[in-house]
Amino acid sequence: MFQARFAILAQKLSAWLRGRGPRRLLLGLVLPFVGVMAAFGIAPDTITDNVVRSNVVEELQLTAAPVVESADDTYWRETRVERGDTIASILQRLQIDDTSTSQVLQRAREARALYRLIPGRTVRAQTTGTGQMLALRYLNGTQLLKIDRDGDILRVWEGPAEVETRVLMRAGDIRSSLFAATDAAGMSDAVALQIAEVFSTDIDFHRDLRRGDRFAAIYEIQHHLGEPVKTGRLLSAEFVNQGKTFHAVWFENPEGQGGYYTLDGKNIRKAFLRSPLEFSRISSGFTGSRFHPVLKTWRAHMGVDYAAATGTRVRTTGDGIVDFAGRQGGYGNLVVVRHQSKYTTWYGHLSRFGPGIHKGKRVSQGEVIGYVGSTGLATGPHLHYEFRTNNVHQDPLRVVMPPAPPLAPQYRIAFDEVARPMAEGLALLRQQVATTATQ
Ligand SMILES: [Zn+2]
Repeated sequence: MFQARFAILAQKLSAWLRGRGPRRLLLGLVLPFVGVMAAFGIAPDTITDNVVRSNVVEELQLTAAPVVESADDTYWRETRVERGDTIASILQRLQIDDTSTSQVLQRAREARALYRLIPGRTVRAQTTGTGQMLALRYLNGTQLLKIDRDGDILRVWEGPAEVETRVLMRAGDIRSSLFAATDAAGMSDAVALQIAEVFSTDIDFHRDLRRGDRFAAIYEIQHHLGEPVKTGRLLSAEFVNQGKTFHAVWFENPEGQGGYYTLDGKNIRKAFLRSPLEFSRISSGFTGSRFHPVLKTWRAHMGVDYAAATGTRVRTTGDGIVDFAGRQGGYGNLVVVRHQSKYTTWYGHLSRFGPGIHKGKRVSQGEVIGYVGSTGLATGPHLHYEFRTNNVHQDPLRVVMPPAPPLAPQYRIAFDEVARPMAEGLALLRQQVATTATQ
């Protein structure tokens, strides 16, 4: 029965992806890749961004029941190249062991793409549970770099990328951490991070997650000759946190402005993020505080403490203007951000400040304003976070935030056409997880 229903869903998603063609064509035309497109003989309405690709929907895999991790398991991880990155720093983030890293560095001369690490692009790698690198993929514009393990040696291949976008559907449940769950479901970190980002105004991924929470996601993945090379956009997701269900559907209006909405068209963006800490595999794994909340309560000291490794990035939870950045008594290095005149957020014990952070600077939601530390009266590295309304302390976990404007009425029909197959897909994933759980 799932097969048949998935075939119908596949058609709907396929039609929807085709429907995005004309806009993608416009995007493609401003980029000088027409020649490449002709060379590959791919229909013009399938070109997008800076690589040749076509949209197909065929791989609507359902995940099996979450598998038990073992040292034999392999993982695909993916990371974005950031400014100042080196090959070594990227491989470290991908949790690749030292031996494999030095092997890659030895072969780097042949892997010319690695000399052009362009911020924003992604590197994907497959490792064993102990960090031995099995494969690496780096899509650099129209070129693809592949490194594959063959016994003790690494084989390097570089050539033109012929990329197509597929849609994947995966689901999982949380037993220890979000990343353990996405690993078990065969989802890359890039998807896990997009899920955490999309729901960041509703769920504090550092403190709110509980064993038994569930998620389902429909997302794009770019393939080169049948093999995944890069995670694309999260198209829709469902997250059940402590019994409460949240949905998000990506929708781009005809003017090309995109955003995530609930299934009934409410904007999921809000004035404040739930957590000031950036979520990452490293920060999520640092303490058990998600399951054993830190001892100090909000009542006792008028703030929320987040235990995290020194250097973890701290983000402003809302748009605003820096009101204070400096040293202040027990707070140590402190940043205070003022939002819409009435609200202030306080970030204490920082090891250092974010780039260019000073009084009067305008900051936007999610911008890095500092790094976790233990300055001032702190026994260990943690972030002390306060939320004040008219200078009165509020429990940030209880503040009700006004939502962003909903979907404009004229886009309602177009939105429903996108949201309906997504809702069906998420419902099927939910059923499938429930079925395998009771088997
Ligand atoms: Zn505190």
